Amino acid sequence: MFVKRAIFGLAIASMLAACGGSTPRETVPVALPEPEPERRCVKILFAGDIMAHMPQVRYAFRNGSYDFGDTFEYMRALFEGADIVVANLETTLSDIGPYSGYPCFRSPAALAEAAAEAGVDVLMLANNHMMDYGAEGVRNTVRILDRCGIAHTGTFADSVSMAERNPLVVERNGVKVAFLNYTYGTNGITVPYGISVNGIDTVRMAEDIVRARAAADAVVAYVHWGDEYSRRENMRQRQISGFLHSHGVRTVIGTHPHVVQPVVRTLRGVTAYSLGNFVSNQRLRYRNSGMVAEVDIVKEGDAVHDTLRVVPLWVRGRDYAVIPGCVGDTLAMPESERALFMQAMADVRESVAAR
Ligand SMILES: [Zn+2]
Repeated sequence: MFVKRAIFGLAIASMLAACGGSTPRETVPVALPEPEPERRCVKILFAGDIMAHMPQVRYAFRNGSYDFGDTFEYMRALFEGADIVVANLETTLSDIGPYSGYPCFRSPAALAEAAAEAGVDVLMLANNHMMDYGAEGVRNTVRILDRCGIAHTGTFADSVSMAERNPLVVERNGVKVAFLNYTYGTNGITVPYGISVNGIDTVRMAEDIVRARAAADAVVAYVHWGDEYSRRENMRQRQISGFLHSHGVRTVIGTHPHVVQPVVRTLRGVTAYSLGNFVSNQRLRYRNSGMVAEVDIVKEGDAVHDTLRVVPLWVRGRDYAVIPGCVGDTLAMPESERALFMQAMADVRESVAAR
């Protein structure tokens, strides 16, 4: 590169000399300064498990239809500030119901409509509840997400969809990001013929990563794993995280434990072991809080680097509004709510830093 530019500089110097008059001048190679590599940046916001327990569904029902807008209202500004917003859909969707909560989730399509309206771009479908209503549940869910304009990956209604979406490549600002999504299992429900759910299988994952790296500038793995309600990652999570980083996945995002687990950075990348719930009716301490991980991926020439920042969240019990720390600090709240909010903020920070 430098040689080419030096020659180009020499050519310009010669031309100037030729135009300058009849006296031949000695030409001196001019080395032009190396241009700065082009800098491109994409900001991705990762949210945790979108759950829909029946009290949430009942709360959303008003005037004959469902409206989950309250859940996303205070997240809007954060979502709008990101280029890509990602979350895990821990339920299936239906236009007609009947709707149900734990242990087999089926939620109104309005949940996805509210998420899309608030700015959610991608929903992860590899989780232990995606098979709750069998093949029909999966087909209805992806049909509704397609209708809402929400991209999805991790569980696939057919092989064509899997070929298109595994990995799911999203391009923003000239940076291509490949999303891979895996789950530890499907609550013992057999996956019917035709449907595919990405399980945690290192042979398959290694193949996926090769294709993802070829197709994108950066690869993110979003993994459903870990022990429910445990505030620490287990040995298996550590092994899978190490496997992913060693294969070139710099960002690993975890969900499923319903509580926040540590964020661990190494030279090979960063793992947020569990983001906790994004929204749920779980009201106990540690389960009523969660976090979003804000990941900036910067591409400069051929080099790609990334940073991860955590934003703690608290779910307000009376209307299931998800309140990020930066908004909650400025919101008027009764003393009892303020105490819960402050506790949640402290709990998340403590969990993230625990080693
Ligand atoms: Zn789960």
